Amino acid sequence: MTTATRWNTPATAPRTLRFGEHTVTWLPDGYVQLDPRRWLPGTTEEDWTGENAGLLDPEGFLAASIGALLIRHGDRAMLVDAGFGPRDVPAADTRPALGALVGGQLPAALDAVGVDPAAIELIAFSHLHGDHFGWALCPGRGLVSPFVNAVFAASAAEWATLPPSKRGPARIRTVADGEEIFPGVTARSTPGHTAGHTSYVLTSGGRRLIAFGDVFHTPAQLARPDWRVAVDALPEGAVAARRALLAELARPGTSAFANHFSDVVFGRLGENAGTPCWEPLEEFY
Ligand SMILES: [Zn+2]
Repeated sequence: MTTATRWNTPATAPRTLRFGEHTVTWLPDGYVQLDPRRWLPGTTEEDWTGENAGLLDPEGFLAASIGALLIRHGDRAMLVDAGFGPRDVPAADTRPALGALVGGQLPAALDAVGVDPAAIELIAFSHLHGDHFGWALCPGRGLVSPFVNAVFAASAAEWATLPPSKRGPARIRTVADGEEIFPGVTARSTPGHTAGHTSYVLTSGGRRLIAFGDVFHTPAQLARPDWRVAVDALPEGAVAARRALLAELARPGTSAFANHFSDVVFGRLGENAGTPCWEPLEEFY
């Protein structure tokens, strides 16, 4: 795969990187096609020509990866988010801003990196949308989660959006802003996309990796945090969250995990002629 196609192709292979005393692994589950003009309704045709044209797949969609971040420390392991689950929804059956929505690969990805789902002790959700909890909560689908020993964590505001009947028998806990939930991993409240949206900050070896969930869906937003996202629950809060996160990402020693950024899910904030941009990373240094 060439470098160019990585920007408009879902990340379909697990990728493990060393991060201080931790290892972090991208675990792909699938992808969703986002119609750029409907997902970001304030954008114009010109916004999707030039540099940003390279973010669109051959059908004209942003190719958003879906998956989970595995964080390992010693013999302990947790996930941030849990994919979409074993479902394949054709474009005709998805919402207007979406094309095809496909999941199913997460267990195979875990297997490929030699981790038993039963060994995952915690799954921390950025928010409770279906493309983030599919293999964990599985409401109403008759699927048994493979994460039989995991505690499921989200903010109180996020749990409030999911009635107890939809949680099934899951062991759940709430996370508060600033709380350490796993060695080196701290919750950071980033409301906007949803009211209880939470990012997770891994600090290890003197560096920080921010798993920012759906604060950003595409690298194009780094230069335009003011663009409204059609599905953001709190549009102004989401703009504020994007601006605050950009300031965080600009700090020295800070990298990020961007679950929806095609095949460039690990990276850091860069600059191109004074404009913020995404700089993919193959290793953290
Ligand atoms: Zn999402």
